[in-house]
Amino acid sequence: MDDVIVVGAGPTGLTAAVELARRGVPVRVLDAAEGPHRGSRAKGVQPRTLELLDQIGVADRLVSLGTFDLPIRTHAPDGSFSDRSRDPEPDTAPDPTTPWRSTLLVPQWRTEQVLRERLAEEGVEVEYVSRVAGLSQDDGGVDLVLEGDRRLRAAWVVGADGGTSVVRRQLGVGFLGETHEEVRLLLGDAEIDGLDRDHWHMWSAEGPLIGTGSAFFALCPLPAASTWQIQIAHADPDLRATPALLTELVDALHPRVRVRRVEVVSDWRLNVRMVEDYRVGRVFLAGDAAHVHSPAGAMGMNTGIGDAVNLAWKLAAVLRGADPSLLASYADERLPVAAHVLGLSSELTGRAITARTADQVRDAGGLGISYGTGERGPGPAAGDRAPDAPLVGGGSVFLRRREADWTVLAFGGAALAPPDLPAGSVQVLDADELAADETLRTAYAAVDGEVVVIRPDGYVWSRGQARTSSTGAKCSTTGNGS
Ligand SMILES: Cc1cc2nc3c(=O)[nH]c(=O)nc-3n(C[C@H](O)[C@H](O)[C@H](O)COP(=O)(O)OP(=O)(O)OC[C@H]3O[C@@H](n4cnc5c(N)ncnc54)[C@H](O)[C@@H]3O)c2cc1C
Repeated sequence: MDDVIVVGAGPTGLTAAVELARRGVPVRVLDAAEGPHRGSRAKGVQPRTLELLDQIGVADRLVSLGTFDLPIRTHAPDGSFSDRSRDPEPDTAPDPTTPWRSTLLVPQWRTEQVLRERLAEEGVEVEYVSRVAGLSQDDGGVDLVLEGDRRLRAAWVVGADGGTSVVRRQLGVGFLGETHEEVRLLLGDAEIDGLDRDHWHMWSAEGPLIGTGSAFFALCPLPAASTWQIQIAHADPDLRATPALLTELVDALHPRVRVRRVEVVSDWRLNVRMVEDYRVGRVFLAGDAAHVHSPAGAMGMNTGIGDAVNLAWKLAAVLRGADPSLLASYADERLPVAAHVLGLSSELTGRAITARTADQVRDAGGLGISYGTGERGPGPAAGDRAPDAPLVGGGSVFLRRREADWTVLAFGGAALAPPDLPAGSVQVLDADELAADETLRTAYAAVDGEVVVIRPDGYVWSRGQARTSSTGAKCSTTGNGS
């Protein structure tokens, strides 16, 4: 019997697998496809997701393969155009507490490639051509039936098999919401001549455009690649994506614009749906298997990666002996996030990217996601994101956090002893000795004698005054992030 089987090697499944494998959990990853997907779908990686990916050491690589800076050029039907920044906020510069503040543009296939490479470093390869067709479970484990009648059994299963999830259907979990037949996209990746690669080119019109009735036609050059992502909005249920149709529509934009080669094409229509629950027994749902919505705002993949990071450390802890009740917090924390994302993406659907407000963009960035339900103080409370800060010797809180599951920051003479925590490695840092400057104290609004416990996924678990007992130093903290 395997410890954990992850079904689906999209960004959600790959992230879950890396997070489990790096904690020493034996994990298998099954995918129905013949090999990696080639489509660029999610090309917006949000700042909070970069922070989560930084914990597994791949954010810098991803940043080196993407761009933060791609202005939008909006073309009018008369041939004139105007340029706008993608970001409505003038101040998106990083600061010592927040290394990334704007959305990275990088194609989804690249994000998946970087995650697969990281997974391979842990000795795990995706098992392609492994389609899960059936699932049942008992008190001791989960039985999976794969196409071809292969059978596997695991203690736990993560269903990250996308919007049409077989795992979700087999569990009988409802996928509540709506399908909008009239909101459709013809999608493709292609090599194109005749357009500069320094802009995300968009055409929008009130009425029919180039014969498809499209009111939104976007060509985005993909960084560190020769291809472009093409999105053509339409409302025609009979229109089918083919390389020939894509070529015809793009070529009609301007006499100079020509498609040289089509890499992939697909059809998409809007579904706004989410599950009633993220878990049935020993099986968890994550990513698109649990929630689907409009790509407006660039949040689908990002929410899936957030699910995976939230779930994986808890599952690893339970496999190392933590109380299984810890797993209940996965749904408690992530269901409200998914519900919020469904609302925000619906609000943004049909609105020009350049018409988004700074608040909406900030919201989509995920830096404000909090699992906290308790009292709020001046600094980050239990459940809030734990900010970064520079440490002596060129280090940072984020870099140090890679070295252990739990990081305890002890301020102003607080006891340097680990508090009781669910399973996992713990490091206790003398915050005053290690801080490179005042940023650490200020970012955490910490007072002398205070300890802040940071969870393995980078959220505050608890904070409070430390005390010493006759048997040795002990920490007593209030609140926890679950
Ligand atoms: C045009 C477009 C633009 C988008 N832009 C963004 C964006 O900028 N930012 C963003 O965050 N999101 C964006 N999204 C959404 C994003 O693409 C998805 O949310 C993301 O792919 C979800 O990842 P996932 O791993 O959960 O699922 P998927 O990527 O769907 O992966 C599921 C995997 O499971 C496998 N699988 C399926 N069934 C089985 C089975 N029975 N057995 C085994 N394996 C199976 C599949 O082969 C696949 O590899 C966009 C989507 C579209 C369509």
